[in-house]
Amino acid sequence: MYVYPDAQYPDAKAVTRALEPDEPIILNRPHAARRAARFFVEKFPGKVLYAVKANPAPDLIQVLWESGVTHYDVASIAEVRLVREALPDAQLCFMHPVKRRGAIAEAYHQHGVKTFSLDTVEELEKIVEACADPETGEPASDLRLCVRIRVSSEYSELSLAAKFGCDLTEAPALLQQARQHCDWLGICFHVGSQAMTPFAFVQALDRTRAAIAEASVVIDMIDVGGGFPSIYPGMEPPPLEDYFAMIAKHFEALPIAYNAELWCEPGRALCAEYSSMVVCVDKRRGNELYINDGAYGALYDAAHVGWRFPVVALEDDLIEPLEDFSFYGPTCDDADFMAGPFALPADIQAGDYIEIGMLGAYGAAMKTGFNGFGNAQVVTVADEPMMSLFDGSRTREASDNVVSLR
Ligand SMILES: *Cc1c(COP(=O)(O)O)cnc(C)c1O
Repeated sequence: MYVYPDAQYPDAKAVTRALEPDEPIILNRPHAARRAARFFVEKFPGKVLYAVKANPAPDLIQVLWESGVTHYDVASIAEVRLVREALPDAQLCFMHPVKRRGAIAEAYHQHGVKTFSLDTVEELEKIVEACADPETGEPASDLRLCVRIRVSSEYSELSLAAKFGCDLTEAPALLQQARQHCDWLGICFHVGSQAMTPFAFVQALDRTRAAIAEASVVIDMIDVGGGFPSIYPGMEPPPLEDYFAMIAKHFEALPIAYNAELWCEPGRALCAEYSSMVVCVDKRRGNELYINDGAYGALYDAAHVGWRFPVVALEDDLIEPLEDFSFYGPTCDDADFMAGPFALPADIQAGDYIEIGMLGAYGAAMKTGFNGFGNAQVVTVADEPMMSLFDGSRTREASDNVVSLR
C-alpha cells in the first residue's frame, strides 16, 4: 500500500486505492478555497468577512487568511476562541444577535472583538454593560455596532427570515438608540442561504434604505450578509459578478456617510468547493444504497432539505448506464435517509466507493457522533471539485437574472 506523503493524493480514486477505507474520508481542496477567496477579495466591491459556521476547519481558515480574508464573522464564544487562536491578527465580528453576557465580555475584553450585531434594545443594553470597564464602569468608547434588520428570504433555498432581525417599524428607534453608544454604526441583514438571484439583495437594500430614511441617523457601514450561492445539481446560479454589480449599484444609492463601508459575510460561497467525501456502500436493496455517512454526518442538507449533491462512483469496472438511487445513512434511524435522486452506475454494489461532492459548506461541519458513526479521516486532494463557480468555465454574459419564483 502506497501512502502519499502528508496524506496528499491526486484524487478520490487514489485515496480509495491507497487506504481502502472502512470509514468515510473527507477530501479537502485548499486550491479551491483559495480561488473562491481570491475571487471575493478581488471582485466584491467592499470588505469580505468569512462566516465561520459554514466550516470552522482551522486549515480552511488559514487558507482564507493567506488569500486575503482578514475579517471573520463569528457567532459563539467557541468560534471567537477558535479563530483568535488560529489567526491572532484577524478582525473578529460577533454577528449573532442573541449573545450571552459572558460571551460578549470575554470577546471584548480578552479577544479584542469590537464589532457586535443586535436586533433588540435588550441586546444593545447587554453589549454596552458587558463591554464597560469592569473597574470603573466607564462605557466602552470603541464599540462598532450593527443593527440586524429582517429581510425576505423568498429568493433563497434556505430561509433565515424568521429567527433574527428587527422589523422595519422597530428599526429606526433601535438605530437611533444604538447610535448613542458608538461612533460607528452599521446595518446588516441576511437574505437566506443559497440566494438564486441577485434580486434577493435588491429587496433587502430597499428595506435598508427605508429604515435609514426613517431613522435619520448617520450610517457608517452596510453589511449585506451571506447568501451568495454555490453550484449544485439543479441549482446553477447566475454569475457572482452579477450579484456584486447589483449590490454595488444599490449600495451607492443609499443615504449614508460618504465614506461608508460595504461588507459581505459569505459562508457557503467561500467553502462549498473545499470538501468532498468518500463513502462506501455497505448494502444494496433495489435502488437504495446503504452508505456509511448520512443525515447525522456530512449529508445533513441532503436528508433534511432534500439537497442533491453531485456523486460519482469510484470503481473502474462499473459499466452499466446511470440510474437513480437514494441513500440510507449508517445510523439505526429511519430518518437517516437521503432521497436524492443520485445518479450512479446501475451495477453498483456493496463494497463499492462513491465520492459525494460540494460538501465544504454545512457538510463536513455538520458531522455528529450519533450512534457511533462520526469518525472520518481527512486528506488533501489536488483535483478539481466536481462543480465550480470559479474555474473559468462560467463566462459572464447577460444572464438569466429574470426572477423565477419556484
Ligand atoms: C450563516 C450566516 C452567514 C453565512 O451564510 P451563507 O448563506 O453560508 O453565505 C453570514 N452571516 C450570518 C449572520 C449568518 O448567520
